[in-house]
Amino acid sequence: MLEIRNLVVDIEDKRILNGLDLTVNTGEVAAIMGPNGSGKSTLSYVIAGKEDYTVVDGEILLDGESILELEPFERAAKGVFLAFQYPLEIPGVGTMTFLKAALNAQRKARGEAELTTPDLMRRVKAAATKLAIDPEMLKRPLNVGFSGGEKKRMEILQMALLEPSLCILDETDSGLDIDALKIVADGVNALRAPDRSSLVITHYQRLLDYIVPDTVHVMANGRVVRSGGKELAIELEANGYADYRQQAA
Ligand code: ADP
Ligand code: MG
Repeated sequence: MLEIRNLVVDIEDKRILNGLDLTVNTGEVAAIMGPNGSGKSTLSYVIAGKEDYTVVDGEILLDGESILELEPFERAAKGVFLAFQYPLEIPGVGTMTFLKAALNAQRKARGEAELTTPDLMRRVKAAATKLAIDPEMLKRPLNVGFSGGEKKRMEILQMALLEPSLCILDETDSGLDIDALKIVADGVNALRAPDRSSLVITHYQRLLDYIVPDTVHVMANGRVVRSGGKELAIELEANGYADYRQQAA
């Protein structure tokens, strides 16, 4: 599903990703772990197509096709979804309006009919109930005044509605209490499917108690320095990242 080869990325002449290789197979849940500043968010942004980054070398293939030349919305139409580490507040844009626009843009790109408002409402309400999102929140501007946990659940709501083929979650666990963490993990687990892959970025092992990954990759200084199974996350929790900081430096 996702193949990244020798990815080298700069921001303002500063090298952030430094020859990163990563393969995520179709149907797989891959965890990306690593110390703060190792480039995890940068990796997620570069896959999603955020501006400001210069891809100096390397390749990102989605289902064998390069996506580096595609605009963010084109990548989204191909099924790439990023749940932000810090979701933005968008004053003046109603949550429902946003969800409808996002969903219908993708349906249009795939040649599917747009959803009617009643159909949309039904889908959103069903998904919101599963994530314990208060229906009143859906009437407010997107993320405005939401708590940290509510913002993260809103990201997962978007993900559930858009049914992406590649889900990227950037530290969705940060700022969540244990109940919200379980709700979010249930939401992610419900999306597990043979034709869908997930990249779960986390600093801590805790989330991985609830979302059990198929593979774990450790990032340090802008590259993947170790890959393994879920036992690697447990080892990291016990030993920390000190070994990897030294190894990559
Ligand atoms: P992580 O998500 O693993 O904590 P990031 O991808 O956010 O790491 O950041 C990796 C490195 O890139 C850090 O050293 C950070 O300071 C730097 N960095 C990220 N964004 C910018 C930016 N806009 N300008 C300059 N440096 C940046
Ligand atoms: Mg980050």
